[in-house]
Amino acid sequence: MRRISVLGATGSIGRQTLDLIARAPDDYEVVALTGGRNLDDLAAAAVEHRAALAVTCHPELADDLKDRLAGTGIETAAGPEAVREAAMRPADWTISGIVGAAGLAPGLDVIRRGGTLALANKETLVCAGPLVMQEVAAHGATLLPVDSEHSAVFQALVGEEMSAVERIVITASGGAFRDWPIEDLAAATVEQASSHPNWDMGQRITIDSASMFNKALELIETKEFFGIDPARIETVVHPESLIHALVGFTDGALMAHVGPADMRHAIGYALHWPDRRPLPVERLDLAKIGQLTFREPDLRRYPALRLARSVMDQGGLAGCVFNAAKECALDAFIEGRIRFLDMAAVVEDVLTRMSGQGTLQMTMTDLDTVLDTDRAARTVAAEVIRTVQAKG
Ligand code: NAD
Ligand code: MG
Repeated sequence: MRRISVLGATGSIGRQTLDLIARAPDDYEVVALTGGRNLDDLAAAAVEHRAALAVTCHPELADDLKDRLAGTGIETAAGPEAVREAAMRPADWTISGIVGAAGLAPGLDVIRRGGTLALANKETLVCAGPLVMQEVAAHGATLLPVDSEHSAVFQALVGEEMSAVERIVITASGGAFRDWPIEDLAAATVEQASSHPNWDMGQRITIDSASMFNKALELIETKEFFGIDPARIETVVHPESLIHALVGFTDGALMAHVGPADMRHAIGYALHWPDRRPLPVERLDLAKIGQLTFREPDLRRYPALRLARSVMDQGGLAGCVFNAAKECALDAFIEGRIRFLDMAAVVEDVLTRMSGQGTLQMTMTDLDTVLDTDRAARTVAAEVIRTVQAKG
């Protein structure tokens, strides 16, 4: 029996994790499940998986969750601190499928108890990569990538030394607007940005795919997780989304990871690591697929990629500022306050203003420094967004 906790259990990643666990219920004991406002799904999952603890991150929903699970013997709690306590509970394997910088503190809690953390929450590494990797080493924790590209690289590296790696190529689907004329992007709606051509994911990451902010976060995640010089990280647009990443070695060989666009592969690989077990994913028929295509990303279409380069070069807290500004810009776009292309302009402006303040020179010492920078960046972003709105 392995003890499992799922942070963000009601989201796209969390549900797919529980789907895998439900296929072999005798192998797992569910310790903690956390979620947000969707108490119907959280309570149902807690009952189905006989979780010991169910937590919502919203303190005001404490009584509601308690009432729903009354008589089941399942412990309940609410609020960000309760999510952290859930992360601290001993478990053999914990996945973080929380969306946004909110995943950072609970992820670090898992690391600091020396646990195994399967990390879908890319923001953890974007905001605080050096701190996170330092803590993993200090506490003997295990960090397993769940983002499909990073899982692909991780798998291509089995049995290899990083010294033999010349480059990492991260593929990008190109998102919802990859074939749109650039002039039309300014008028793109939230609804249009919320449908992905290949992947079925949460709304925020789907919109981030259309703007390529998702890929930008993933480039930074690659740098932090694999400790590779950013100049050796490449991006290529691959509309079929079947090759998730490639690793180029010093002898010129490229190892590609090919698989269906189904996150249960990356989640399942992390769940069974270092073994491989059968997974309920489609087996690709390459002859039927016929061809795989690649093209260079157009930086005019995807300014987020250019910004990611500058963030990687700056290092320090630039990733934290970048992510916080991106989260605010995304909220503002979803709420109809700014337009699609304004998101990149807002993030660039926040990065410029905060690098001017010298904030980025702060050393990556502790979680509080990161969280303070996150808050400061959100204040600056709110100001920038108001300016953009005022201009109409
Ligand atoms: P989602 O929106 O579907 O689910 C997010 C989960 O986090 C929900 O359970 C929600 O209740 C919880 N949550 C939201 N705000 C929270 C907060 N402030 N505190 C605690 N919990 C909170 O998101 P998703 O698509 O499953 O993505 C989750 C993470 O995984 C993101 O970082 C995303 O970038 C990454 N990821 C997702 C996919 C995918 O296929 N969905 C693929 C790769 C990486
Ligand atoms: Mg990804």
